[in-house]
Amino acid sequence: MKNFNFKSATNTKEAKKLAGGRTAFLAGGMTLLPAMKLRLAVYSDLINIKKIKRLSGIKVSSKSIKIGSTTTHAMVASSKEVGKTIPSLAILADGIGDPQVRNRGTIGGSIANNDPAADYPSACLALNATIHTSKRKIQADKFFKEMFETDLRKGELIEVIEFEIPEKSSYSKFPNPASRYAIVGVFVAKLKKEVRVAVTGAGSCVFRSENLESALTKNFSPSAIDNVNISDKDLNTDIHASAEYRAHIIKVMTRKAVSSC
Ligand SMILES: Cc1cc2nc3c(=O)[nH]c(=O)nc-3n(C[C@H](O)[C@H](O)[C@H](O)COP(=O)(O)OP(=O)(O)OC[C@H]3O[C@@H](n4cnc5c(N)ncnc54)[C@H](O)[C@@H]3O)c2cc1C
Repeated sequence: MKNFNFKSATNTKEAKKLAGGRTAFLAGGMTLLPAMKLRLAVYSDLINIKKIKRLSGIKVSSKSIKIGSTTTHAMVASSKEVGKTIPSLAILADGIGDPQVRNRGTIGGSIANNDPAADYPSACLALNATIHTSKRKIQADKFFKEMFETDLRKGELIEVIEFEIPEKSSYSKFPNPASRYAIVGVFVAKLKKEVRVAVTGAGSCVFRSENLESALTKNFSPSAIDNVNISDKDLNTDIHASAEYRAHIIKVMTRKAVSSC
């Protein structure tokens, strides 16, 4: 942690130029700095991207909401446009961590980090998001690879996250009472062409549940999932909950989400 260079970029071109070798983009620093302090990560250079104005902000069109990568959770939670267009997204942001974390942490930092218990990855999968980077556009289905692993390449900067506006959607989280990270979180979205159900906190990486999606496609109501079997194979067991308990909670959170759609 102790020896690193601190650089600030004022535009994306400059950020791209500075990236390379053992560098990391610094957004809210809520995960990156503790990881460096604990020596879980070592970087020679940190590139502050919070001064790049065009990376922060929210734009709504008839089909989608585009959120700049350095937009904080607090900005999403308090956005009138998000509250009106995709209220579940504002509710999700408002349930992240505590006020300090919500005022520093950013949506881009959250999805780049891909913590298996983070909230935003489930919204990205359920709302069929497109991740716009400095190099390309990546569908959410291809973006989240494994625990703390994404499709991002070295020096690739997330610029915007674009969410499809659903007909209905809701997020239900069973939170860890200390950190507010999800022990299980389920995001349900009824899109124009399909129903998507994304689960976070339960496995090593956010995932979609085909069984829940197919039951809700036939009948979008809480009782539609009564006979759906959620296997606990591959789910996490830790000090907070067993895999069996998490499998049970996935159904409880899904029912809750569908009821409040
Ligand atoms: C006490 C505590 C409680 C929390 N509770 C929750 C919770 O309940 N739910 C939840 O979802 N999260 C929670 N978090 C995580 C938090 O919400 C942040 O989103 C997360 O820590 C990362 O965002 P950041 O902006 O701080 O990113 P940083 O820490 O600055 O960066 C994280 C990683 O992303 C990379 N990165 C950042 N921005 C970009 C970009 N634009 N393009 C490419 N790479 C980028 C960095 O290089 C780094 O590798 C919690 C964190 C803390 C400390």
